[in-house]
Amino acid sequence: MAKRVAVVGGGIAGPVLAIFLRQAGFEVTVYEALAMPSEQGGGIGLGCNGMRVLRAAGLEDAVRAASVRQHGWSMQSQRGRRLVEVCVDEQARYGITSVLMARTALQAICSQGMQFAGASIRYAKRVTAIEDQEGQPVVLRFEDGSHAEADMVVAADGIRSSVRQLIMPDAPGPVYTGLIAPGGFSPCVSKEAFAAGAGKSIQMTLGQRGFFGMADVLTPAGPRTMWWSTAEGPLPDREADRRLTLQDRKAALLRIHGDWPQPIAQLIESTEEILPFAIHDVPSLPSWSKGRVLLIGDAAHAVAPHSGQGASMALEDAQMLAKLLRENSDDVPAVFARFERERRPRTDRVIALGRQRGAQKHSRSLLAYWARISMMRLLLPIFARRPEDWLFDYRVE
Ligand SMILES: Cc1cc2nc3c(=O)[nH]c(=O)nc-3n(C[C@H](O)[C@H](O)[C@H](O)COP(=O)(O)OP(=O)(O)OC[C@H]3O[C@@H](n4cnc5c(N)ncnc54)[C@H](O)[C@@H]3O)c2cc1C
Repeated sequence: MAKRVAVVGGGIAGPVLAIFLRQAGFEVTVYEALAMPSEQGGGIGLGCNGMRVLRAAGLEDAVRAASVRQHGWSMQSQRGRRLVEVCVDEQARYGITSVLMARTALQAICSQGMQFAGASIRYAKRVTAIEDQEGQPVVLRFEDGSHAEADMVVAADGIRSSVRQLIMPDAPGPVYTGLIAPGGFSPCVSKEAFAAGAGKSIQMTLGQRGFFGMADVLTPAGPRTMWWSTAEGPLPDREADRRLTLQDRKAALLRIHGDWPQPIAQLIESTEEILPFAIHDVPSLPSWSKGRVLLIGDAAHAVAPHSGQGASMALEDAQMLAKLLRENSDDVPAVFARFERERRPRTDRVIALGRQRGAQKHSRSLLAYWARISMMRLLLPIFARRPEDWLFDYRVE
């Protein structure tokens, strides 16, 4: 009889894991807390490594149709001085290219793919308890009073994972990094340049009091410029944050970026919805599993958005776990331990990369800022062009 896998979380890792597990003959049900697919989210990047996973899952064509290819990136100072411009021929180097897209579009594609693969998804099923007794199926209990059984549970329930808290109540939770990163989509995008394939690299500006990134992307509403700001700030109080108007958010952003090179202020002013986002970090967990319950994706190892690898790491997890379970699903705790051994060194390295990039976005004195910019002008053209093969050329097979 096919083994039953309960996947908690229908974000990115959950549905793609479900596709791979269905390909391997497992019976899969995904339990998602939300009542419907999330309609919230800004832009998201998928590196060559993440795209390789989506190719294996049969989702590459759909993702390409809803995204734009990313050609490279550039960095300038807040006065508009160009520090570096990098263009990578990813197709030649890695046999695949990275993309930028709206997270809602990625989520929809993953969810449709999962249902097409024969996995079922149950919405409005927030997991509140898990019982794992030897000799019995694992039992999941939901907020609505219902329950379900499975032979193993894989939790892809995100950075604020409830399952992590349930199976490891003493494990450290997310810690605020001191950086807030609001972002949005601006309709200010040159349709002609977009159609001609120009302007699809990420343009970054590093200032004394923060950072601003922008890139042209395709969204369900059409071409847009996706942008995000990163700057120091106190952790916003949820209630107070909810009361802020769009104008309040714009004014706060313009206080930091208002005199930075255009079109930065123009993008902020023309955006109709600004998503607030406080960057959290999850300290390293003592373990990613307990018995027949495993954490994957952000639930196990949230990587900072500065690495651009959150979704790609979650996707690699999904493919690796399915591969290991395909090889052996008899001793589930042993497979889960092996999964952690395979994945932890790599995710630790990406977490370190994210922290290193995040450190550059904190405020500094004017003197320290200009010293940094001068150093970057000298060193970035040398170091930034080094190919990051360890990151992008990774294969799960
Ligand atoms: C709404 C949303 C918007 C995001 N927007 C962006 C963005 O704009 N840019 C970006 O780079 N990253 C964004 N992220 C984060 C990014 O998607 C993840 O870092 C990455 O894709 C890792 O995916 P994951 O599957 O591990 O977790 P996630 O994609 O975070 O998915 C976790 C899922 O688990 C569900 N869940 C949580 N608790 C429970 C529970 N108790 N029971 C059942 N289900 C539960 C959540 O509702 C969610 O659907 C967003 C995440 C979310 C949830």
